[in-house]
Amino acid sequence: MRDQCLGRRQFLQTSAAVAGGAVLGCPRSLSAGPSEPTVIDEPFHGAVLNRRHGEPTDDGLKIRVRGRAPLRDRVTVNGRPARRAGGRFAAEILLGEKETDIVALSEGVSGRREHRVRVVWDRHSQPRYRFSIDDNSFFLRDVARKKYASLFDCFYLKMLKTLHEKYKARFVLNIYYTTGDGFELPQFPDRYRNEWQKNADWLKLAFHAHANEPARPYQYAAPQRLIADLDKVAEQIHRFAGEETYSPPTVIHWGMVQPAALKPLAERGVRVLSGYFRRAAVGWDVNYLLDDARSEYLSRHDALKDFDSGIVFSRVDVVCNSTPLNRIVPTLAPLAEDPNQAEIMDLFTHEQYFWPFYPNYLPDHAKRLDAALRWVTDRGYKPVFFHEGLLGGRE
Ligand SMILES: [Zn+2]
Repeated sequence: MRDQCLGRRQFLQTSAAVAGGAVLGCPRSLSAGPSEPTVIDEPFHGAVLNRRHGEPTDDGLKIRVRGRAPLRDRVTVNGRPARRAGGRFAAEILLGEKETDIVALSEGVSGRREHRVRVVWDRHSQPRYRFSIDDNSFFLRDVARKKYASLFDCFYLKMLKTLHEKYKARFVLNIYYTTGDGFELPQFPDRYRNEWQKNADWLKLAFHAHANEPARPYQYAAPQRLIADLDKVAEQIHRFAGEETYSPPTVIHWGMVQPAALKPLAERGVRVLSGYFRRAAVGWDVNYLLDDARSEYLSRHDALKDFDSGIVFSRVDVVCNSTPLNRIVPTLAPLAEDPNQAEIMDLFTHEQYFWPFYPNYLPDHAKRLDAALRWVTDRGYKPVFFHEGLLGGRE
């Protein structure tokens, strides 16, 4: 149909007919410009923006909006005319609220088109880090069996306390209900409750999974099963360590849940979920089954908000057990140079690699944590918990 139209137009022009009249015979929607979409390319829907992403002013954060729209159209962004250059448009807007809708509207002969995104402003942003340790269960079994006088007679908790005293580091330990060999949380005594509470300003416990096996337990599980497991562990943490020690989960085992689980998790107090958002053979993995576009974005940004559930996703910046000691700093350093990844350091490892009986035991595991903590501390990053405020920062 398009070819036919052009053919007719060409014919009319070559036959020296009135040029203006020739266009009338061809529907305008078929010319190149108006068939293009109107799209905001930047910022990304769900982006968490801070002072590194724009210009802080007395009234808010001034940021640039960029996108594409039909060549002939007039474009406004939040009601004000945008600059055009070819098929592109650009405008500046001011973020003055926690969340801002950005609306690009293009109008032309073929009608109106609109694209709408929402962004989060991290108004009180400051460089911060969190340290999260997954797959915890052996230390609980150890304390329960050895009946230590103090929690910190367990070498693992002692090691964390030393790092806390040295760097003011805070840790959240994501725990299992059972080690899978007969030990379950109800066997953990409540006689350390006072000690847990005294240390709750830097040491928290959170649900991670029922057990280490099977892998990816919640990837295809009904949300009700995940929530039932969460509730069981939460009840035990409250019993033996007190409310002060409890943190809602910030990492679910294997970083995979059904999309329908996000709202129920948010109802249990989940505010942030960390994952790897890494490229896999097909699509992305350890990404809470987010769509490709958001997973790809998260693979190179600190954070992204899912407005449906209210949960903010965070990309893990270093996994200490899989990063050799001499690679810890070279892994973190480039992130501090990237405005999209510099503000929040999501530090991470797994408990099992601390234990000599574990087949993949790492004798230098504690040194790796020390290297990561020294690096963030020297650069002014403050220790936070992700379940508080906005990614641990003031809201
Ligand atoms: Zn895990």
